[in-house]
Amino acid sequence: MSDSNPNLSRHARHLALTQVGASGQARIGASSALLIGVGGIGCAAASYLVASGVGHVILCDFDTVDETNLGRQTIYAPIDVGKQKATVAASRFAATNPDIEITAITERLDDDALAAAVVATDVVLDGSDNFATRFQVNNACVAVSRCLVSGAAIRLEGQLAVFGPNFDTSPCYRCLYQERDESLESCAGNGVLAAVPGVIGTLMAAEALKYLAGIDSPRGKLLLFDAASGDFRSVAISKRGDCPVCHQGAG
Ligand SMILES: [Zn+2]
Repeated sequence: MSDSNPNLSRHARHLALTQVGASGQARIGASSALLIGVGGIGCAAASYLVASGVGHVILCDFDTVDETNLGRQTIYAPIDVGKQKATVAASRFAATNPDIEITAITERLDDDALAAAVVATDVVLDGSDNFATRFQVNNACVAVSRCLVSGAAIRLEGQLAVFGPNFDTSPCYRCLYQERDESLESCAGNGVLAAVPGVIGTLMAAEALKYLAGIDSPRGKLLLFDAASGDFRSVAISKRGDCPVCHQGAG
């Protein structure tokens, strides 16, 4: 298909989808997405959000590129080692799609700064690698009813869940994990198969795009990917009546 409007050509495959079409693509283009972490998961997720024309993509990571990242964080090159990940990623993605706005946040956000970033965006994708950040991001999303797409990858395992934006009915991340689970932290100590964060990041991008385009999707389930067996399975996540974050009257 050729078209004189480059945006129509870029988005032709979305426009051809009955579930997206012109109205869904317009919604995607008018939306913003905040990515927490631009590592293996965030790189993969961001690449699809950028290419598919999410109007404003905000990349948040205070870390710098390390040589140990290069084996799986595919947008970084040896020349980037020592540079701020969010800045490098924003530059690369600006070339991928010059028609959208991309913002890099390179400092560690405190609760107030994170709350301001979350309330200003339509969907939050959390690809961070520690529970302190995941709990902080969940708190911010529940407080202002933002959809949270959460993903994690370690060893040969990945997981994905979508929470909110209606936390009267949707469970939150804290309903799933009441406390830190150290077995799910530190790729450095445990290792991770390179493509697993890419699988999870790509699934997160699919969920975010569906949400932004207005495609209904069930909540309250955790998708588990086991690269060793090649299997996906999902388990239900119940909304906890005693959740300290999303229980009515909590906080
Ligand atoms: Zn909860």
